[in-house]
Amino acid sequence: MSELIGIDEARRRVVEAVPRLGDEPVVLAAALGRVLAEDVTSAIAVPPFDSSAMDGFALRSEDTPGTLPVPLRIAAGAPAGRALASGEAMGIATGGVVPEGADAVIPFEYVVDRDNTIEVQESVAPGANVRPAGGDLRQGTVVVEAGVRLGAAQVAALSAAGIADVRVSQRPSAAVLATGSELRRPGEPLAPGQIYEANGVLIEVQLASAGAAVERLNTVADDEEAHRAALKRGLQGDILVTSGGVSVGPHDLVRKIEAELGVEEVFWGVSVKPGKPISFGVREGTLVFRLPGNPVSVLVSFELFVRPAVLALQGVAQPRPRFERGRLGGELERNPGRDELVRGRLVAGEDGPVIEPLPGRESHMIARAALADALVLVRRGEDRLRPGDSVEFLRLS
Ligand code: AMP
Ligand code: MG
Repeated sequence: MSELIGIDEARRRVVEAVPRLGDEPVVLAAALGRVLAEDVTSAIAVPPFDSSAMDGFALRSEDTPGTLPVPLRIAAGAPAGRALASGEAMGIATGGVVPEGADAVIPFEYVVDRDNTIEVQESVAPGANVRPAGGDLRQGTVVVEAGVRLGAAQVAALSAAGIADVRVSQRPSAAVLATGSELRRPGEPLAPGQIYEANGVLIEVQLASAGAAVERLNTVADDEEAHRAALKRGLQGDILVTSGGVSVGPHDLVRKIEAELGVEEVFWGVSVKPGKPISFGVREGTLVFRLPGNPVSVLVSFELFVRPAVLALQGVAQPRPRFERGRLGGELERNPGRDELVRGRLVAGEDGPVIEPLPGRESHMIARAALADALVLVRRGEDRLRPGDSVEFLRLS
């Protein structure tokens, strides 16, 4: 770990090593969280016709004010079947087709409706309460672009455009392996010197939230044979993420055994706190992340390096972490040697978000990190940051 590289350089090297996965069709209801593999254009206009924005009466604006007979009423999905004649109005429901000849809708609460004749006391503006055809989306235009990870609103927009299924990137297959002889899973009894493991499940859920299909391997003791068997299996997929065993101790076996299995190391050591001993390598089609053992190091280094890789594998157009700007709500000492990501709590300030740093900056303190909803990026330096200083932060979800 002689010369440490910086966060940005490390991420650049990771993203550079990422191949692009193939794609596959899925039905829209199964597309949430998937990444669109191609631009989707709409074959229709949305709305497909001029439609009413209100329950009311369709009419000609030039006939208002006035007294207008109402010969028929239009429901959603049941057009009038004829044009509106001059001097008349038609009842119309929200979403009903505005008939030929009509250019406005007056809501029913603004008229007096007596025996199928309405009295309109004011003049109605042309276009009032009419949703023009194509006002939301013009025919032939792109609904959602390639590289977008589909959320609820994108799925709904595709459905509104009549799209029944979409081509999305394949889900990366990922394996997770927590290493350490001291680790037990919740539910098992703890013997002296043992701890409950946090990283295996942490990485599993982080990978899943980034869109990967995850296999959680059984935790291995600090034993070469056990490492070899588990790592061999883990190297079958698109991504392998391990935790622990990546420092310089005699029990730190991950890099050694992976090297024997053909993993080429791209880097080991990044000048970041927490997470300094992180290492990254590749073997054929597999991206290999060796995260440190301390759980907060895992939490942070996953967001900085692994999530961008999982997203890039799926062709996400913006795979980098989305840092936002806010103001610091307290004092923070800078680290002279390394950039630091400090856990903080986000509150709404007068002029934007304020991040209050939380106490407990050590990398084993996962329970304290569980109180945080943001990571503040504190660039290395000699001085201290003060309340009100502008900082970059990353939201945790
Ligand atoms: P290591 O990098 O293997 O030396 O681990 C560093 C520290 O993280 C040690 O205190 C380990 O006990 C702890 N640790 C390692 N793996 C896990 C895990 N899966 N869950 C919680 N703590 C862990
Ligand atoms: Mg260990």
